[in-house]
Amino acid sequence: MKKQTKAIRIQAERSHNREHSVPLYLTSSFTFESAEQGRAIFAEEEEGNIYSRYQNPNVDEFVDKMCMLENTEDGIAFATGMAANYAAMAALLKQGDHVVASKALFGSCIQILTKILPKWGITCTFVNGHDLAEWEVAIQANTKFLFCESPSNPGLELIDLEGICQLKAKHNLILAVDNCFATPVIQTPADWGADLVIHSATKYIDGQGRVLGGVICGREELIKEIRFFARHTGPSMSPFNAWILSKSLETLDLRMEKHSSNAMKLALALEKNPALNAVKYPFLASHPQYDLAKKQMKMGGAILTIDVKGGFEVVNEMSKYLKIASISPNLGDTRTIITHPASTTHSKLNAEQKAEVGITDGLVRIAVGLEAVEDLITDFEQALEKALVASLVG
Ligand SMILES: *Cc1c(COP(=O)(O)O)cnc(C)c1O
Repeated sequence: MKKQTKAIRIQAERSHNREHSVPLYLTSSFTFESAEQGRAIFAEEEEGNIYSRYQNPNVDEFVDKMCMLENTEDGIAFATGMAANYAAMAALLKQGDHVVASKALFGSCIQILTKILPKWGITCTFVNGHDLAEWEVAIQANTKFLFCESPSNPGLELIDLEGICQLKAKHNLILAVDNCFATPVIQTPADWGADLVIHSATKYIDGQGRVLGGVICGREELIKEIRFFARHTGPSMSPFNAWILSKSLETLDLRMEKHSSNAMKLALALEKNPALNAVKYPFLASHPQYDLAKKQMKMGGAILTIDVKGGFEVVNEMSKYLKIASISPNLGDTRTIITHPASTTHSKLNAEQKAEVGITDGLVRIAVGLEAVEDLITDFEQALEKALVASLVG
């Protein structure tokens, strides 16, 4: 069966009610038929549910679907994407270990690597992710873990997945890839050899801006260690969120196709716009890593960036004239969202750090939604035109 069929058809077992859609198992704990069965399940001699911090049928269904989509042996779900990222590092690293990570990481991941893990003697070197030679130079005797995101947020920088997997194999390291922007519909890092694939399920996995969630898919022995950490520290996904997310996976394929075709059309239209310095999108021929994008991505994804001439002032004018796109720090929604990273999500970076990951004062991230693309093109064109006029008059 194709993945799209499985994404729709994998589901928790039907109850005696023979429901067609999966029910919501809102229960904190489960019962045993006897004290002996309780003992056997706790001893892992018999399979069975114990307690929803450990496992729950809705959460298991969601994880099964994600592992199927990402082509991994095992997986585990979390309350948020950051809980997943943190658990991967906290469970697998110990005092004295070293991480090499791409500079272009999600902001909170940088905070964990620079402010939280160093408290326990775990250190990190940041590199320009597109340059494999830099990764190799940064690897030390105590390096254990490589961490990257492709495409990156918001710079849309790509990591050569084949190349970095060869590097991690050569040095016998664990490689974790945050696959949030691409989703398994567009790329499956485990096929290149990534050990862990991490998602903020809050984004395209849900795809409708309703719930938070996170998931790690990966090699069984690593997931086993992460599961031990998660069971005892408790960052579990709620059954309700898992129920929503499983339902969302039924349409992931459809949604990513439409997000990508909308984003491609909007990028092509905006490329000609005189109010912009640049438009960046992995599947535009002008993207510096266009060939790599074509090699490792099936589609360009939902995110593009524009660099508005005149910086924040003109961006602010444009934001006031947009009739459709929302102004919000999120992404991964049916509704198109614009974000100004320099003043919001990446405002904690200093000028040098911003420059290194391509965040200019005029940069706007557009997370293209599922509205009719003609309406989106018209909306951005009219808003940019009015913003340009306002800035000239002003
Ligand atoms: C949003 C996001 C996260 C964090 O996920 P939460 O669900 O908000 O905790 C991590 N990585 C990337 C790339 C993201 O976009």
